This record gives sequence, structure tokens and C-alpha cells, in this order.
Amino acid sequence: MIKRKAVALLSGGLDSMLAVRVVLDQGIPVTGIRFITHFGCDPVTSGSCGHDVEPLVKMWGHLGFTVRMSHLGQDYIEMVKNPVFGRGRNMNPCVDCRIMMLDWARQTLEQEEAGFLITGEVLNQRPMSQTHERFRQIDRKLGLEGRVLRPLSARLLEETLPEKEGVVDRSRLLTICGRGRTPQYELAKKYGITEIPQPSGGCLLTDPGYSARLRDLWGHDPDAGARDINLLRVGRHFRPTDRCKVIVGRNEQENGALEAFRGPADALVYLKDFEGPMILVHGEYGPGEIRLAASLAVRYGDVPGKAASEVVVDRKGGEPSVLTAECAREEEYIPLRVAAP
Ligand code: SF4
Repeated sequence: MIKRKAVALLSGGLDSMLAVRVVLDQGIPVTGIRFITHFGCDPVTSGSCGHDVEPLVKMWGHLGFTVRMSHLGQDYIEMVKNPVFGRGRNMNPCVDCRIMMLDWARQTLEQEEAGFLITGEVLNQRPMSQTHERFRQIDRKLGLEGRVLRPLSARLLEETLPEKEGVVDRSRLLTICGRGRTPQYELAKKYGITEIPQPSGGCLLTDPGYSARLRDLWGHDPDAGARDINLLRVGRHFRPTDRCKVIVGRNEQENGALEAFRGPADALVYLKDFEGPMILVHGEYGPGEIRLAASLAVRYGDVPGKAASEVVVDRKGGEPSVLTAECAREEEYIPLRVAAP
């Protein structure tokens, strides 16, 4: 007999929350797994998967809901580099991603003394990864046939083991299908979910601008590690040479992040007398790259009339120096911008 407990893939989006609740409502305890990756599914960022699940644990803990976190780290980076099932419109390898997450969740079934997995997937919500055939293919590949319950669309899909064995009452599962959100919003209301995460197209890998930066990074440095990848989510990126990037903070938070991400060989460049961006000069650089960064500080800073201004250049281990920079000219910096085509 299949065990009466489920492990849920928890994206932080509304659909996975609802899937959990539908199962909890049948008196079945659920442990949600919150995956963290370097590409935005991180509770401390505003990535698509960044919704905090703590309030849910507070709300539904008495029903048997717990959460554990799992960082997919380097394995996930390697998968994004070489996905077996290809990518969506941008760098998102959704099928491989689902396989990796489900596989990881499968391995926790035993530790959690759970019998089956649940996901918030909705049939035909995404053309690449959420079709009937894809569900079958993914479950088969992981040897999980009959053990992945998709409560929101379950009655449109084959019966799973927990349904067949009477652990889950199929008649109380749902028939949601497609991209519309109305049924989910109605359910959210029923369950008292007031803070509804905004629906989004997915994680950062689905974002054209982010994908352009990632392609550029791996195009220049195929072995780039987590620090370089983490930098991609911060600021405007310019590539003056194959070995150097100039990154311009767009707000106070990004300015702080650039300072925090600064490596031992990087330089920080900022306006001496006016408010403006923190600029990270990252990689191998010379006077030309520093001059570009200084001119961008004037361009993006609060300099009256964009007049030539003093700029601080701070290299680690040395005294900061000051130089006077003109405002960057469009024809110079626009072609260097790493952005979506
Ligand atoms: S959008 Fe695709 S790649 Fe990103 S987390 Fe979701 S399934 Fe994975």
C-alpha cells in the first residue's frame, strides 16, 4: 500500500501552493521542497520563484505541511549549459529542469516516509513542459509512473497509484487546464490566500535580457562559476573586451550588491561629488576600460548638465584615485551593451 504522505515541488507560485492545499484537504501530510538555484529561484530575490513560503507554513502547518530547502548548485548550472531536451524561447531548459527537480524530490521520498510526489503543474499551461505527453515522458524517464500526482489537472490525466489505492480521493481533485488563471484565483480565495504571487513566465532563464547576458558570459568564459552567474542579475552590463565586463548599478540595492560581489582584482568606479551608480569593472582591464566606466558614471549619475566630473577609481589593496571624465557618448557605449537583440 502506498504511503499516505506526499512530497511537493514548491515553486513559490500560486499553482504549487494550491496543489499542496488540495492534498492537505484530504488529510494527507505534505512536505514541500523549495528549490534554490543560481538563476532566480531564490527566496531573497525577486525572481519568479521568489515568493516566501513561510506564511503558508504558518497557515497550513496544523494540516501537516512542512517545507525543506534544497540548493541545486553546480549540478543545475551544468544542466542549464547542456540541456538534453533543449530550451524554450530563451535560455530556459524547462523539461530538463523539471526532470532534475522531480528526480531530487524522488530521492527524498524515502527520508520523508512519503509515497508519492505532487506538483502544481497544469495541463497545457506551458507548451514545452506541461503537455500530457511531456508528463508521461518525464515520469517514465525517472521511473515514477503513477507516483506523480498533479492535483490541479489530475482528473484530466491518468489515474495515479495513490488514487488507485484510495489514498487520494480522485473525485476531489481538479480539472484545470490551459493558461487561464480564473480557477486558480477562485481557489486562492476559497483557501484564504490573500497574497497571491504574480503569475510570471518562469525563472530568470525565461527573461530575454538575462538570457542574453548568460549567453554572453558562457560565450566568453564557458567555465564561468557561480559568482559570475550571480552578477548577471545585477545592473546594466557592458562588454568592452572579451575579458572584461563593466557593470553599472541601477539603484541603491544593486550598488550594494556590486560592492558585495566585487572580486579581489575588480575595480569600483563612482562619482566623487554627485549621487550615481556604483560601477564594477570586472575581469582583466586597463586604462581604456576604466575610462569607459568613468564616463558611464557621468552618463548614469545625477550630474547637472552631464558636465565632465570627478570620478573615484577604487582598486582593492591600493589608495583610491580620482580622474576627470566626460559623459559617455551613445555611439561609444550602446554597442557595448549586453542586451536582448
Ligand atoms: S521556468 Fe523552466 S527553467 Fe525556470 S524554474 Fe521553471 S521549469 Fe525550471
